[in-house]
Amino acid sequence: MEEFLHCLRIQIVPDVEEENRINNIVAFCKEYGFKNVMLFINAEEYNVGHMTKEEAEPWLKTMLRAKKKLTENGISVSLNPWMEIGHTDRCRTLKAGQNFTLMEDYNGKKGTTTVCPLDENWRAYFADFYTHLLKTVKPEVVWVEDDFRLHNHGKLEYGGCFCPIHMKLYNEKLGTNYSREEFKDRLFGKNADDAVKRAWLSVSRETMAEYARFIGDVVKKADTGTQVGLMSSAADSHSMEARDWHAVANGLSQGKKIHRIHLPCYVERTGKDYMFEFNRSSMAVRTFLPNDSMIYPELENGAFSTFIKDARFLQFQVGSAIPLILSGMTYDIYDFVGNGTIAEHGYGEALRDITPYLNGVMSLGLSFADLTGVQIPIDEKTVFNRKHIGRFEDLRPEEFFAGAYLGSYGVAYKYTKEKRFCGENVALFGGAADNFTDGELADLFRDNFVLIEGGAALRLAERGLLSLISAKSAERIPYESTLLSYEQSRGEVGGIAKRRTSSFGKAGDYVKIEYENGAEILSDAFENTGKYFGNGVARGKNFILNPYVMDYFQGEQFNPMRVGLLQNAIESSGNEYMFSGRAGVCCYHYKNSGGHTVMIVNATVGKLPCISLKTNVPVREAYVLGRDGALKKTQFEQNGNALKILCELEYLSTATVVLK
Ligand SMILES: [Zn+2]
Repeated sequence: MEEFLHCLRIQIVPDVEEENRINNIVAFCKEYGFKNVMLFINAEEYNVGHMTKEEAEPWLKTMLRAKKKLTENGISVSLNPWMEIGHTDRCRTLKAGQNFTLMEDYNGKKGTTTVCPLDENWRAYFADFYTHLLKTVKPEVVWVEDDFRLHNHGKLEYGGCFCPIHMKLYNEKLGTNYSREEFKDRLFGKNADDAVKRAWLSVSRETMAEYARFIGDVVKKADTGTQVGLMSSAADSHSMEARDWHAVANGLSQGKKIHRIHLPCYVERTGKDYMFEFNRSSMAVRTFLPNDSMIYPELENGAFSTFIKDARFLQFQVGSAIPLILSGMTYDIYDFVGNGTIAEHGYGEALRDITPYLNGVMSLGLSFADLTGVQIPIDEKTVFNRKHIGRFEDLRPEEFFAGAYLGSYGVAYKYTKEKRFCGENVALFGGAADNFTDGELADLFRDNFVLIEGGAALRLAERGLLSLISAKSAERIPYESTLLSYEQSRGEVGGIAKRRTSSFGKAGDYVKIEYENGAEILSDAFENTGKYFGNGVARGKNFILNPYVMDYFQGEQFNPMRVGLLQNAIESSGNEYMFSGRAGVCCYHYKNSGGHTVMIVNATVGKLPCISLKTNVPVREAYVLGRDGALKKTQFEQNGNALKILCELEYLSTATVVLK
């Protein structure tokens, strides 16, 4: 049986402590079941920019010594060169003879080591240096760092590369001869031109796909049998370079498609905050990747101490990542500067403790494609469809907040690239609406039950499609720009009649919508004196609308009044559903021929005496995956849509349940 692979990312410095560090790492891996070590070179504090073979020499000698000892002990060795084009400059400069084209932002500011990935001189250097590393170390996997990106390069503005090579490509695409300043003005300025935006995005998309092919070709030519793994960052950032996820994966692949998904927490935070970001980003990236990708997420501590992350939280991050369908995990948890592993942190014990459970999850043989729940449409080309771009940040897609929001109080959901649905609950947030044609939207509302928020309603208004939600007008009202103060339900929610919740800034911008026949108003908005202000939540035959623009963490949206109305709508939609209904208890629902597998993540600080779910899935038998990795038949109670599985769930931990 294939086992969960723990991969330790670590740097061993070639100095007098080298032998001690190697022995320390081998002993740690043997003791705690790490079967792979990813050796860094040129990383962080020891990064020297575009490293020469001479500079690499002592590091490679140390790596070979480490590799010999590791492989003698049954531990495979991978290579993690820390730099391709460069993350950030940190005052480093190009070396003599490195005549590389530097990355340049739209203001003309250049990096000092960060280069343009299209530059031929840099490519010649990189191919030669990378080949030298590969042929010397012969790693199992070479990991491409997350400087494989167009944005987030230190002091350069986000927005990609505007070097002479890129300016030529933009102009070729447009048939123009714009200077960088003229191009920027048409990209973000008062003279914004959609054709310019599309040319810029298309070139960015092609740049990264072609750059992946280039690295894939270098590895292939080195002919060392090495696979390639790619590290990525947050879903919204990659959306802003219009990443072609499949082209990038295929370009790098040497047979396998190996991916390190970013887990959004370098520093411990609350479990709830963490899962909000996990649902917003990690699950979306997984959806964009090819289904047959092998997933080894990034578990990293931003600085290295138990103040930054306790072992218990580290264990929680591993356990709660299982909905991504894991092959293993990568750990960057000990000092980059090279102290070996640190026993007192207790990380090894925490990971060894959870390994049988992780192997048990793997033995269920789930495929990410089996995930089900409220469908959340996303599109990797969403930025092409965004309007009103006055600055780079306006491109940032907000539709991933649908997963963050629904997931945070335990609604099983699934991001999807599909555009056609039938008999499903579908959440349409923000710019996702603009990725559908008018006809597709008409089909969506006709054949499904749609959960829609104010941002998507404004898109429908712009396109003259308000009839889909039985409305005649929609107007955005920025929060706290009027006396709008609170919202009140017309009926009972959660046992409280006329339940109220705040409509201040933490609820988001309000969208004042006037409806026609066909919409039932479930709540009303009021000013501070009780004067009527406008409609609150509205429900039609095929939709429920929450009239706020949900584009950041809006705490008031988690009020039980708003959540309760949405849950009631899901329950009465007639479509299949599953949710925990409890804040901070996430629920992931996999469905295949073997039945239903449900992963429940308890991100709260309390122990759950049993697992409570709301679902219309009929259950005959229930099994719980134990900490020993074995499935055990478990008692359960099902009354109507209330399912209670008699199994405790500790705080910051995960349960996997199989229902038949
Ligand atoms: Zn460039």
